Amino acid sequence: MPELTLNFYPGPSKVYDQVKDYLALAYDEGILGIQHRSDKFVEISKNTVALLKKKLNIPQDYYVFFTSSATECWEILTQSLVKQKSFHIYNGTFGQKWLEYARKIRPESSGVAFDLQAEINVADLQVASGTDLICITQNETSNGTQIKENTILNLFNRFPDPLIAVDATSSMAGINLKYIKADIWYASVQKCFGLPAGLAVLVCSPRTIFRAKQINERRYYNSLVLMYEKMLNFQTTHTPNVLNIFLLNKVLEQRPLIKQIDKDLTQRAQQLYDFFQEQITANLSLLVENPDVRSYTVLSIKGDPKMLEEVKKNAARQGITLGNGYGAWAKNTFRIANFPAIVDEEYDVLRDFFLKFYA
Ligand SMILES: *Cc1c(COP(=O)(O)O)cnc(C)c1O
Repeated sequence: MPELTLNFYPGPSKVYDQVKDYLALAYDEGILGIQHRSDKFVEISKNTVALLKKKLNIPQDYYVFFTSSATECWEILTQSLVKQKSFHIYNGTFGQKWLEYARKIRPESSGVAFDLQAEINVADLQVASGTDLICITQNETSNGTQIKENTILNLFNRFPDPLIAVDATSSMAGINLKYIKADIWYASVQKCFGLPAGLAVLVCSPRTIFRAKQINERRYYNSLVLMYEKMLNFQTTHTPNVLNIFLLNKVLEQRPLIKQIDKDLTQRAQQLYDFFQEQITANLSLLVENPDVRSYTVLSIKGDPKMLEEVKKNAARQGITLGNGYGAWAKNTFRIANFPAIVDEEYDVLRDFFLKFYA
């Protein structure tokens, strides 16, 4: 056995312990060399889509696609669903990056930044006519904030024409997302799914597919209509990450329903927030002061950069990996993942560490 090593990095993050056995199983069952046009692949793919819908509460009439990453989803959505421009509402690095990618392809795309401590003010939002896609990041992994279910619903109600696209990379499979309240949701699997990187799940409403067909953009291997046509038979436009789809299948089989996972995670998030707020004093504080916008899956702790270096090094000596800060918060925060693959006992060890050195 390796020495105690705990990984709280919010992506890539700890994979489920069972992944070790599933990897061996994939080899033994000959999955690694199967053809992606074979019946065997189609069966795995079809079964995985069914499991995703069942375990994550995705509406039956929504479409599920496999891509390689969340970043690829940014491109797919812009290429295939944005004729003129998208509009991005963001408060952190991932949301901003999405806008930057969109602009490279559709230069008229624009965005508005909102305050880290505040909710999106939907009532006062100005969205130009001709906007094809409104883009939000449900869980901003870079700073540990999240957008509430109700805000997404308000957006949907106030702007019924553009499609609403949601980056849920660090919350899908952790939080019980209400898919019906937006058109497009996506996540790569190296966060809440507890799997190795190299695969993402893209979920689309019926009206998204309707729009994609209307626009009928077919220029790229990952054009959404081409993906849709192949997925009618549970196939992909290119040779996909078969191993990771297999692992996703196995992990989903073993996982409880999302309702249960959501309950456990949100409770654990609350305990962690309370812990850092009440028991840890030594110049460490929660980055997100407003409890209403705190993420359930990624905690961000703020402190003096020099001190944070010491905290991370000290943690590493104890076999604990903390997540570095990201983007604008790279130096003065560290992050802690609250993902389903990490078990409660690991957070006990984490708490003991902070109590011992920083209480
Ligand atoms: C990690 C992350 C991404 C990027 O994911 P890739 O799989 O590396 O493309 C995008 N958005 C958010 C919110 C993320 O957390």
